[in-house]
Amino acid sequence: MSVCANIQRVRQNIPSHVQLVCVSKFHPNDAVLEAYNCGERVFGESKVQELVGKYESLPKDILWHFIGHLQTNKVKYIVPFVELIHGVDSVKLLAEIDKQAAKVGRIVNCLLQVHIAQEETKFGFDERELYELFEKGLLKECPNVSVCGLMGMATFTDNGEQVRAEFKTLKTLFDKLKRDFFTDKNDFSTLSMGMSDDYPIAIEEGSTLVRIGTTIFGMREY
Ligand SMILES: *Cc1c(COP(=O)(O)O)cnc(C)c1O
Repeated sequence: MSVCANIQRVRQNIPSHVQLVCVSKFHPNDAVLEAYNCGERVFGESKVQELVGKYESLPKDILWHFIGHLQTNKVKYIVPFVELIHGVDSVKLLAEIDKQAAKVGRIVNCLLQVHIAQEETKFGFDERELYELFEKGLLKECPNVSVCGLMGMATFTDNGEQVRAEFKTLKTLFDKLKRDFFTDKNDFSTLSMGMSDDYPIAIEEGSTLVRIGTTIFGMREY
């Protein structure tokens, strides 16, 4: 199947209120261009160096999302152009994004990553830490960061009910935070959950943004 045919198939499963991020990590520029030529403009990468390389060599109207684990010492390389950083998982990282964003005069959109999986290897805040962050007003100390929502990854398992339960937990937390801290604003509106194997469940459970790689571009060669 061609990249274009894959995209058309995926798009049929995604309602119009859900945003598609084409995850192009480990795939060459040609693959990105194929998707671009089918009309896609939003791409996700998980390595800073690869993202910067693609940003520099590919069309400038692409909106680049960073979806990986971001190290604070690399924030400065992507902040000048990145559209959305999905995996903000510490206050230290938030502060560094704010600092670098101020330097280049930008307000950078971020999602806070929540640890919903059973796997210890995955990153993210838990509910208590998130409440602490909001209650202490730490976000107000970062005027160059706009926190637009949450991101989470379910456990890598065939157990669909477990995946569904984890997405439900994330959606519930998202709604609570929105109610408690964003009542008069609409900017807390993105719930990034769902990948190739679980995006239909994620959409059923309230995802507003899915990050899809393999189903569009095929297997990655690491
Ligand atoms: C790689 C990756 C994806 C895409 O995964 P696929 O299973 O290939 O769709 C989505 N989200 C994150 C955070 C990733 O690292």
